[in-house]
Amino acid sequence: MLIVIAIGVIISLAVNYFSDSSLRTTISYSSFKDNVQANNISSITVEGEKITGTFRTPPLSDTSAGVTTLGFTTYLPFYGDDELSNMLEENDVKVFTKPANRTSVLGVILNFLPLLLLVFIFYSFYKGSRNQGNSLFSVGQNKAKLYMKTDESKTFNDVAGVEGAKSELTEIVDYLKSSEKFHKMGAKTPKGVLLVGPPGTGKTLLARAVAGEANVPFYSITGSDFMELFVGVGASRVRNLFRDARKNSPSIIFIDELDSIGRHRGAGLGGGHDEREQTLNQLLSEMDGFEPNESTIVIAATNRPDILDPALLRPGRFDRRVSVDRPTMIDRVQILKIHARNKPFSESVNLQTVAKATPGFSGADLENLLNEAALTAARNKKTVIDQSDINEAHDKILLGLVRKSMVLTEEERKTVAFHEAGHAVLAAYLPNAEPIHKVTVIPRDRAMGVTQQLPEGDKYLYNREYLLDRIAVLLGGRVAEKLHMGTITSGAENDLQQATQLARKMVLDWGMSERLANISLGSEREHVFLGEDIATRRDFSEATAREIDQEIKSILDEAFERATTLLTEKNEAVLKVANGLLEKEELLGEDIDKLLGLEPKNGNKKA
Ligand code: ADP
Ligand code: MG
Ligand code: ZN
Repeated sequence: MLIVIAIGVIISLAVNYFSDSSLRTTISYSSFKDNVQANNISSITVEGEKITGTFRTPPLSDTSAGVTTLGFTTYLPFYGDDELSNMLEENDVKVFTKPANRTSVLGVILNFLPLLLLVFIFYSFYKGSRNQGNSLFSVGQNKAKLYMKTDESKTFNDVAGVEGAKSELTEIVDYLKSSEKFHKMGAKTPKGVLLVGPPGTGKTLLARAVAGEANVPFYSITGSDFMELFVGVGASRVRNLFRDARKNSPSIIFIDELDSIGRHRGAGLGGGHDEREQTLNQLLSEMDGFEPNESTIVIAATNRPDILDPALLRPGRFDRRVSVDRPTMIDRVQILKIHARNKPFSESVNLQTVAKATPGFSGADLENLLNEAALTAARNKKTVIDQSDINEAHDKILLGLVRKSMVLTEEERKTVAFHEAGHAVLAAYLPNAEPIHKVTVIPRDRAMGVTQQLPEGDKYLYNREYLLDRIAVLLGGRVAEKLHMGTITSGAENDLQQATQLARKMVLDWGMSERLANISLGSEREHVFLGEDIATRRDFSEATAREIDQEIKSILDEAFERATTLLTEKNEAVLKVANGLLEKEELLGEDIDKLLGLEPKNGNKKA
């Protein structure tokens, strides 16, 4: 298109140029007038201010050049000339007139320029956006990536633990590969699998493993990819995605972070979100639209199944729900092994111990732990990663960076030491408290000091005694400050939050208080989520609310009382631990047992 336009412009310029210069000489206006007066001009043509004409006999100056030009061109001065018309008549000059015609070279360019510019801008915009792959002309197009199998493809071997999820997904792949067999039995193959679990537990990884193992076309897209500035785009992308996948069936569609489009409709602040609802509706109808013996399976992942629209979860859509949980101790060992594959470890490192020290860590957390350890080792110019690097990484992840610049006064250091000693002594003497892993008073990003306890194994059930002791340990820091420093400080903020939250859960969710025993009062949600109803329903009256507050307070008060009694009794022990901390800054569980002359609690035995 550009070329055609360029040629056109050149031609018109050329025509203009040549027609203008055909054997005419340009003369001055005064010489033109002289010639009129001398009756040497036969005719003229007036075109605006331009006058062309022919001489009767060419003036001398011109013939000397060897060319005889009868024609001439001149221009009327802009102030006009009143005498001229009389002179022309007197001398019998023929006058032709033409309308002013501004096809000068400049004129042509000026005429074409805006158009040219527009075409150019349009063209480069088109080209540029096409290169980025999201052209303005293809907003509605399917944005899913068609997955190609490579050497780096993940397989189920790269996913540790989550055995249940793995076998479920293997089964699904089986359906796809031999759907005939199932149709003969009159069975419908499942349409959707929803992977549900906390962040970092390997949902996306599992889907990638399926892609690597399934050997069928695998379309992968993230929920937010459906969204664009323009309304209606999401729905059309869903449509195109399913059309493409069906064309290549058997195939798998993977939608990551499903909650970003699959949120409960008709909820939230300020009415619905039309675009998202349209997208969701389209998804719902596409999933219904499968022919009975079509084999396209949709796998989706989310960590917020609670906010998904119920219509998504009904049979016939995401009818399989696979939960991907935080790894257990045994799983953690396996996951650590996978991520330790390409890292050099010293003999001393025992992944079993690491797994034991990391309850509640997700797969991603564990990967991060080993990576941080490797970074630390490299920074310290070691050739292998040893246990101390792992410990340092562990502390960094849990507690934040050491704040070297933070200088505490003597008074503050003492307060922190007694605070932590209070936690530690209670943890050591209360029968249901978890064993101490480590106590430190090194100020870090997230805390001035920490008492870290570790359960002996993964814990799934908590009894009342355990919870009460846990609250007492949490309050122990403040109690010790009060007993030994004669005051209380802001350092207990986090302890108080945790203790209160636990007490609250005991009363509301677990029916563990005396007056409101065995009743679930439906605790408020921890976060008000925009997609959820903003006003959390309360299932109880004002009177009950007051009673709840009283019960929570009484649990906390009792725990505080118990902590005070025990710490007064064990005054000696608190002093010992506090002094130990002031001296060494960090004490391990076994150090504390030694200091206090205690039988080690199970967890403190050297693993
Ligand atoms: P999400 O569940 O949030 O989608 P990902 O699948 O993205 O979590 O996991 C993030 C990373 O954590 C993975 O790339 C992987 O390296 C690691 N990871 C998580 N779970 C596992 C697991 N079960 N086995 C091995 N690695 C895991
Ligand atoms: Mg993910
Ligand atoms: Zn504390």
